[in-house]
Amino acid sequence: MKEHKTMYDIIGVGIGPFNLSFAALLENQPELDALFFEQTKKFNWHPGMLIEGTVMQVPFIADLVTMADPKSKYTFLNYVNEHERMYQFYFLQRLDIPRREYNDYCQWVANEINSCKFGKRVVDIRHINGEEHYEVDIMNVETGDKERYRSRHIVMGTGSVPTMPPSFRDLPNEDVFHTAEFLSHQERCKRAESITVIGSGQSAAETFRELLKEQRDYGYRLDWITRSGFASMEESKLSLEHFSPDYVDYFYQLPQSQKEEVFATQDLFYKGISNHTITDIYNLLYENSIGTEKVNVGLRVLSEVEDISKKDEGDAYEIKCLHTQKQERFTHESEVVIAATGYKPYVPDFIRNLTSLLEWDEEGRYKVLSDYRLAKTKDSRNEIYVHSGISHTHGVGSTNLGLAVHRNKVIINHLLGEDVYKIPKKNVFQTFDV
Ligand SMILES: Cc1cc2nc3c(=O)[nH]c(=O)nc-3n(C[C@H](O)[C@H](O)[C@H](O)COP(=O)(O)OP(=O)(O)OC[C@H]3O[C@@H](n4cnc5c(N)ncnc54)[C@H](O)[C@@H]3O)c2cc1C
Repeated sequence: MKEHKTMYDIIGVGIGPFNLSFAALLENQPELDALFFEQTKKFNWHPGMLIEGTVMQVPFIADLVTMADPKSKYTFLNYVNEHERMYQFYFLQRLDIPRREYNDYCQWVANEINSCKFGKRVVDIRHINGEEHYEVDIMNVETGDKERYRSRHIVMGTGSVPTMPPSFRDLPNEDVFHTAEFLSHQERCKRAESITVIGSGQSAAETFRELLKEQRDYGYRLDWITRSGFASMEESKLSLEHFSPDYVDYFYQLPQSQKEEVFATQDLFYKGISNHTITDIYNLLYENSIGTEKVNVGLRVLSEVEDISKKDEGDAYEIKCLHTQKQERFTHESEVVIAATGYKPYVPDFIRNLTSLLEWDEEGRYKVLSDYRLAKTKDSRNEIYVHSGISHTHGVGSTNLGLAVHRNKVIINHLLGEDVYKIPKKNVFQTFDV
């Protein structure tokens, strides 16, 4: 194993938008030695869902830097300018940029920043007692070669991973897959006799809309099954204020048991479907219902999928469902099944190896301080800052891109031991606290 002698100030694990924003802001602090490692070969933001026509759910102002440093060269507007598309963007007159464009913007930033290293997976982190640093082992994903780095601090931005119900997992991935893989399976969908989408969030709706658009060309039967209904995401401006630093501060100081209760009531702030996507789908269904041809589409609510298995004969899968109100069971058949069953935070196993250094709650989750440091069991100047897996402490906005830059301002102020970024106390019109 190659060992590097340099003592870095901070090493970042994972380069999604959260750590990329951190890396871009740190470019203003040349005295700091930072390195960021990403296991994939290049920056790619949820590539399986970069469907043409899908847009960001936050305005472009929530780019990687603007809310901390609008003069940074890594703003979205500077990206547009550098690509000589300013007039087109001006005439476009939109805040909600295409998701594909956000990805391209992030790729441009990632290419500009030398501290971002791709194709390198962090496989272990150890705290070296008495020497006041961490050892970080990384593996080159192509060659398998390992290297060891040293750093005073760590910042974890490992994001989330798709979740599939257990009965879906052992079936052939070509036919039964998660929406996270939708684009790479689009050709398979075109050849299918029947396709079923399961779930009722934004990813389910975008996948269903795309398949509905193409249905007339490819002729498959299309179904959409959800346990609940097709609920709209809560998008009113006053509701959006829950994605503010003010609400994070309010939520943070609630007792843990109350946090769990409050969080459980906030599903529609982030789990429902955008109004414009529902409108698009309804318009398409309506268009397709004109004339005498039968619409070959089914939308089933209140139906919980309990099990799925391959039929003994033919290409189809049998999906066993329970009607949640009538408590009656029924089966549904489909040749392709797409699980829009969400994501869960990804906390790499090596964090568990730091068990004795870190504090854990009764549920086995790490404890996170208000300034995004993991709570430690002993005095040490070496911090681990976290972006991922913090909903239980910091609430509903933890995965929202609109709060990433604020979080990075807080982390950088702590890292540097001075307020390089102002943190305004009042950012919204409503008051959450007494
Ligand atoms: C389809 C989709 C659309 C979304 N759209 C929006 C939106 O419009 N607005 C919004 O506010 N939020 C949106 N979100 C939610 C969320 O904010 C984003 O998903 C965002 O990507 C989170 O950024 P991240 O940096 O935490 O994680 P990720 O983007 O998940 O990146 C984490 C990275 O860490 C890498 N990694 C993990 N472990 C290691 C390791 N050991 N070593 C090296 N690298 C590692 C992974 O490969 C990954 O690239 C969306 C989510 C999804 C799934």
